[in-house]
Amino acid sequence: MGLLRVIGLNFSLLAANKATPEKIARIRERRFRRLLRTAVAQSRFYRELYRGIDIETCQLADLPTVDKPTMMANFDDFVTDRRLRRAEITEWLRDKSHLGQMYLGRFIPFQTSGTTGENALVVYDRRALDFVHAALIARHALPEEPSLLGFLRIMFQSMVKKTRIAAVLMTGGPYPAYTAARYPPPLHGLFVKEEVFSLLDPVPTIVEQLNAYHCDTLFSYPSLLDILAREQLAGRLHLKFTAPLSAIASGSEPLTDSTRRLAQAAWGRDVQDTYGSSECFIMARSCGKFERMHVSTDLCCMEIVDRHNRPVPDGQTGDKVLLTNLFNLAQPFIRYEVSDVTGYSTESCSCGQPFPTLLPVEGRTDDIFYIDRPGGGYDAVHPYLFLGPIVELAQVREYQLAQTGRNEVTFAYASADSGPEVDAKVREVLETGMRNAGLLDRMALKTTRVESIPRDPRSGKLRQIISRVGAPPDLDDNVMRH
Ligand SMILES: [Zn+2]
Repeated sequence: MGLLRVIGLNFSLLAANKATPEKIARIRERRFRRLLRTAVAQSRFYRELYRGIDIETCQLADLPTVDKPTMMANFDDFVTDRRLRRAEITEWLRDKSHLGQMYLGRFIPFQTSGTTGENALVVYDRRALDFVHAALIARHALPEEPSLLGFLRIMFQSMVKKTRIAAVLMTGGPYPAYTAARYPPPLHGLFVKEEVFSLLDPVPTIVEQLNAYHCDTLFSYPSLLDILAREQLAGRLHLKFTAPLSAIASGSEPLTDSTRRLAQAAWGRDVQDTYGSSECFIMARSCGKFERMHVSTDLCCMEIVDRHNRPVPDGQTGDKVLLTNLFNLAQPFIRYEVSDVTGYSTESCSCGQPFPTLLPVEGRTDDIFYIDRPGGGYDAVHPYLFLGPIVELAQVREYQLAQTGRNEVTFAYASADSGPEVDAKVREVLETGMRNAGLLDRMALKTTRVESIPRDPRSGKLRQIISRVGAPPDLDDNVMRH
């Protein structure tokens, strides 16, 4: 039954890629009403919240918004199955041997590692996770979009010679991407061989493992793809992407132009970007044009709003996203606040998909460095402005650029080569970038060579850009953006 559902979902999502926007609107409306009916019938929280609202005729914008602290404080009433209880699930998750097992035979719970506030507890049911896998397959971008027949042929070829997927992820805990990898769809092993490598291993170990595994498809975080592309360019990593389904995909962090360019130089391929959150694994993905991400409006609603939850016009970035997950009925997220900075693009994509596109990423708000402006106030500096040229430095194995004072940055890096010429080259490249951005005489630059960059203790990821001083408390709304 499970397999038939995944195949059916796959084909309906593939068909949606070629549908009209009107057809997508009808699919979305049907899923939206089903979600509301389930929420009101089975969640005490929503029944109370929507009292007096006609859920058969209301518009999305008529509904009240929900935030994470409210969801967590009301967790046992929020979910749609009375057997799901926060205290019991949290206890169950403490036992690492439960990873890969279903909770009560049909639920997949995990905790998120948010950068602010308490962690969220998220529960998918098996059906919702099947939606995620079907979307990952149906919205898997290839330079040439296959026809339906072509797709069937590729599936048949995959049964003869399995596609080898390598995912380099934060492992060993209830992390979203790792969770999805640990709960593959039924009979998935017929078509693919998937191996998960741990981000916690040192880079040379990961390189060695990938060289031995020979993957056709690679998934990881942009910060790690950046490192691996450097390894490939330096001749230590030997990945080749030549199979019909070969692809490189990223998620969980903003994919920047510099990482895309680096991957293109290393492997001759574009990286497919994926945007999602724990509450909705898959919200947007880039298409075979690889230029911008398309929002899967048949699977979720993304309202871009300012900090007061007012809608932001297309073409502008907002402060938050109000997310509605249309496929997970176990824990209804309806107009749920997610603190991501993004916005809808007003430009259409030449691929012909019916889904709207997002503006290019600017990076997370906490990655922006606010520096003192002469005469008062602050300037917002996107660190990629001067990190761009670092792409040229094949000797740098991993790095972190930290704002260590209001007008001071420290560049820590691990290098494959030793010798003073590397230090001189790193300084020269960074100073050139800063000079071009008009920042050289305004910011102090420190460089330091290290053995390896410590991983973020909360997420285990390598954060390439981090502000240790944060945004100033008196930051005004009229800050200049570079
Ligand atoms: Zn497109």
